[in-house]
Amino acid sequence: MELWFTEKYGDKVGFSLKVKETLFAGESPYQTVHVLDTHMFGKVLTLDGLFMTTDRDEFIYHEMITHPVMYLHDNPQDILVIGGGDGGTVREILKHSCVNKVVLCEIDDMVIEVSKKFLPEIAVELINKNPKLEVFVGDGIKYVEDSKGIFDILIVDSTDPIGPAVGLFSVEFYQNCKRALKNDGIFVAQSESPFYDINIIKSIKLNLHDAGFKFVRFYYSYIPTYPSACWSWVMASDKYDPINDFPEVKEFNIRTKYFYPELGRASFVLPLFFKKEIED
Ligand code: SAM
Repeated sequence: MELWFTEKYGDKVGFSLKVKETLFAGESPYQTVHVLDTHMFGKVLTLDGLFMTTDRDEFIYHEMITHPVMYLHDNPQDILVIGGGDGGTVREILKHSCVNKVVLCEIDDMVIEVSKKFLPEIAVELINKNPKLEVFVGDGIKYVEDSKGIFDILIVDSTDPIGPAVGLFSVEFYQNCKRALKNDGIFVAQSESPFYDINIIKSIKLNLHDAGFKFVRFYYSYIPTYPSACWSWVMASDKYDPINDFPEVKEFNIRTKYFYPELGRASFVLPLFFKKEIED
């Protein structure tokens, strides 16, 4: 018998992976958690039936949510990651020797434990208990309320705006993120699919400007296992405008498989359908 896992987008689109074995299935207080061993993408983490990260394509997402902002900022030392319980984003951050401390604020301990057990290449720094890494299990919405002027970079590596992540897309949350950042800090978040979710992207832009950020810029790449494969991230700051301030020449000696500086700069050049929708 063949076993397939299908992620549905709405009720008219599906993306399926042929499954060798279900390695984990569980219910946390927040979501349904599965880890599947698949023929084409290796081990796959899903939350509430949605593909989160896979052995085969996680490097694209985790490098692209991390290295553009780490390259743009003059001296990123103190970083906050909200979500990101699989550990891929903190793994990429900790490749930068300038980093003093990374705080990972993940609401669901089951995601952390399952990632450490079944996705060790992604969760490597969680497993190694890197001394620069502090793991906090809790709601990122609350965490930023209690943080003032602490972080150089704040990365929201969240699920879609559903369930516990809804509040991570609000003006109030963005205002608190701004307060949690230092004056020259940079906010980054995954901002969904330009192909399917342009209305969500437009509201993210509006909310970040309403939260008081001077520069709000989107960039994009492709993630094979995400809806439409066309994916975006957003950067917001009062000091750095990635369109004009991306360093022309700066040492970048981090081991990557996808990101390099020229690609990072180019990722802010958007397809016209995307650019037209978010231009003022
Ligand atoms: N890094 C993966 C990827 O490649 O896209 C997926 C993102 S990560 C698994 C998303 C995480 O956000 C989930 O583990 C979820 O539990 C977490 N999350 C959702 N809402 C949250 C909140 N309010 N505070 C902290 N973490 C939250």
